[in-house]
Amino acid sequence: MSNEEISRSNFIRQIIDEDIANNKNNGAVVTRFPPEPNGYLHIGHAKSICLNFGIAEDYKGQCHLRFDDTNPHKENIEFVKSIQDDVSWLGFEWGGEVLFSSNYFEQLHDYAVELIKAGKAYVCDLNAEQVREYRGNLTQPGKDSPGRSRSVEDNLDLFARMRAGEFEDGAYVVRARIDMASPNMNMRDPTLYRIRHGVVHHQTGEEWCIYPMYDFTHPISDALEGITHSLCTLEFEDHRPLYDWLLDNISIDCHPQQIEFSRLNLEYTVMSKRKLTHLVSEGHVDGWDDPRMPTIAGLRRRGFTPASIRDFCDRIGVTKADNTVEMGVLESCIRDDLNASASRRMVVLNPLKVVLTDYAADKTEQLEAANHPQDDSLGTRKIPFSSELYIDRDDFMEVKPNKKFKRLVTGGEVRLRNAYVIRCDEVIKDEQGNIIELRCSHDAATLGANPEGRKVKGVIHWVSAKHALEANVHLYDRLYTSPNPSDETDLNPDSVQILTGCQCEADLANARPGERFQFEREGYFCRDSAPNEDAVVRFNRTVTLRDTWAKIEQENKT
Ligand code: ATP
Ligand code: MG
Repeated sequence: MSNEEISRSNFIRQIIDEDIANNKNNGAVVTRFPPEPNGYLHIGHAKSICLNFGIAEDYKGQCHLRFDDTNPHKENIEFVKSIQDDVSWLGFEWGGEVLFSSNYFEQLHDYAVELIKAGKAYVCDLNAEQVREYRGNLTQPGKDSPGRSRSVEDNLDLFARMRAGEFEDGAYVVRARIDMASPNMNMRDPTLYRIRHGVVHHQTGEEWCIYPMYDFTHPISDALEGITHSLCTLEFEDHRPLYDWLLDNISIDCHPQQIEFSRLNLEYTVMSKRKLTHLVSEGHVDGWDDPRMPTIAGLRRRGFTPASIRDFCDRIGVTKADNTVEMGVLESCIRDDLNASASRRMVVLNPLKVVLTDYAADKTEQLEAANHPQDDSLGTRKIPFSSELYIDRDDFMEVKPNKKFKRLVTGGEVRLRNAYVIRCDEVIKDEQGNIIELRCSHDAATLGANPEGRKVKGVIHWVSAKHALEANVHLYDRLYTSPNPSDETDLNPDSVQILTGCQCEADLANARPGERFQFEREGYFCRDSAPNEDAVVRFNRTVTLRDTWAKIEQENKT
């Protein structure tokens, strides 16, 4: 096995290996990713996507994309579309057409009729509250619904009239007739069908006024599609006996094997569509693709690459153990990717004007800079240099605060990255005593390299004032202040900081939406990809650099 194969190996792949060795399913592997289109996909879904599509790829099988769309009033076509976009963006291809459980509504209906005819399902007239009350609890067995003893003929008649729209919502449901005393609550005559008037289903329109329940639909949809390995999260373990019962009691000759694995939880964020929907609907974030969201759309807009998310899913692995992954794991995946692939640029986030008193005011030099310190294939670019520059306010102190501070101080020297060594001769302040400008001189002999014997340790970034592009930069921090947030009281009030008037290398005006860069010494950033009403270019910080100073110091030594 290659290293990659070892890192991807998991208990599910071991089961599949055994199944193939035993020629189960004639050696075929068919998986599916079955989202409900009631929200955008999040990083937890990415785990399931990488698992299902990854297995299909590696075993030369197929993975279906099937929407489990049984709950029309929470679903819509925007979600259907975003889910397809996100799966494709992650780099996966589904086998054949996009599928919908609603494709099978007629067949599902017929299976319900089959169960009723066999006395294995019945129409129940209890209301929702009564159904709950009759179900009993973990210590008390349930009570039979009066409908349980209704004749097959009457059940068939009522079900037909439910379908025909004769009854109001909630008047009747269809339930499986299993065991009201089962220790597994899912087996206490679960509901199979309910009445829902007045909703327009995104696929079937107004054709139906009865809708099958998820637990009825899901195993049958899997079986109809010939799924061999139905992979789902642990909360469905207790539903497996019901799924098995259903497939054993209808005339279908396929019985997918369900295997459960643990959900992904990530620190400092939430991972349920209900909670994410709440963040969006209450305006705590600016939509599903807000760069602070753990959604695929949010991560994409934040600057994550598909490869980094797939790498993350490989690193966290697949087990049955509940776990919460540190945000640092996700961050290090994108850092590793962008460190290798992102072009470098200089951007001054918090500008301080520098005037070079010994450099001709009308002169511009085009200095050459490598786009990547290790990878020559990313090429070089020209950077204009002139007498008026911007440096970052954090890179200047009037008085050296400690020995470690290697940046510019009054009377001290610093190297401008890719350019000259400058000395700060004078500090200009406004009437309130705020520093508004530095007067500096440059050493023409220092372009690109330190002359022999000269010790200038600090290197800072800069841009030429008259050539610079002004931009807004959004800095993101964790969405919640608590690693295991409970509700919006745990939201981080400082999860986004918007910097205006940042000064960038001018060619960043041509950055494509979503294009990623390392802003040297600051982190990884991408051009915002949302339609932009105001004319100012916007960049989003994807992630900070691991260790800014160690890196700069190291580069300086070489
Ligand atoms: P949520 O709890 O976020 O609403 P869900 O399970 O209701 O998620 P579905 O659309 O039903 O959302 O999920 C599609 C698939 O993704 C399911 O097979 C589900 O098990 C899987 N999935 C959802 N959340 C996670 C997660 N956090 N980790 C791994 N897999 C997940
Ligand atoms: Mg679900």
